[in-house]
Amino acid sequence: GRHQANDPRPSHFEYNGVRFGQDNLNVFAGLCAVDTPEHVEQMMKVLRDNGQVCTRMGAYKPRTNPYAFQGHGKDCLPYVFELAGKYGIKVIAMEITHESHMAEIFEALHQTGDPTGVMLQIGTRNTQNFELLKIVGRQQRFPVLLKRGFGITLDESLNAAEYLASEGNRKVVFGLRGMKTNMGDPHRNMVDFAHVPVVKRLTRMPVCIDPSHSVGTRAAGPDGMLDISHVVAQGVIAGANMVLVDFHPAPATALVDGPQALTLPELPYFLEDVAIAREAY
Ligand code: PEP
Repeated sequence: GRHQANDPRPSHFEYNGVRFGQDNLNVFAGLCAVDTPEHVEQMMKVLRDNGQVCTRMGAYKPRTNPYAFQGHGKDCLPYVFELAGKYGIKVIAMEITHESHMAEIFEALHQTGDPTGVMLQIGTRNTQNFELLKIVGRQQRFPVLLKRGFGITLDESLNAAEYLASEGNRKVVFGLRGMKTNMGDPHRNMVDFAHVPVVKRLTRMPVCIDPSHSVGTRAAGPDGMLDISHVVAQGVIAGANMVLVDFHPAPATALVDGPQALTLPELPYFLEDVAIAREAY
């Protein structure tokens, strides 16, 4: 039913006290990959100090190179969840790449007394992992952030969202994160945030943008503003409902995607840029 413009079904949902809708905006700043408890705590603290209740934390990392750091997996979940609770974080976006990860998250939340909520993230490499989509779609406990496939059509990615919905889970946010091209792009991916209003026109889903994985670097324009900040502004002005963005206390030591991470002192400026862009929407 996603092509029905007059679809009466709501274009928003609530999860753990946080509203996700086509008419509001949540920022999920956090670690691309969890490395140490100290870094997790520093991240959570700066989020709390800046009034944030959502974050991103990678425990299961889908890596191109099999010898690259694969994430701490379930070992880091207890301290990630406990620290989230300590700093008032209500929703953590966390990628899973296998159904067993969902069970591990469920178990770790239970063990730690459910101090926070989790939004299951399906990454761009798994957008068409249909069996994973069916399993994640069959559960109602966790909402889902589904990333657009980086090398397939938009319609194919929207069909992936339909897998989740048709299995019963309609708490789905659709994430834009840039597309692969063979044009020698200056960015890691071709930024596709002009598709924010298109997805909102075609579906009931709130739309997320991921400037970090789209741009991939801290490159700055002649005005000194980071390309990441420019594309965030573009996506938010286009009506984005969620921003997923990488930060790290010490990007040079980050085990995954350090070159695209913003630093913790940059968070208030980043949030201000987002707020100004939202005003302009
Ligand atoms: C991520 O957000 O950590 C990630 C790996 O994103 P993507 O699936 O878009 O590459």
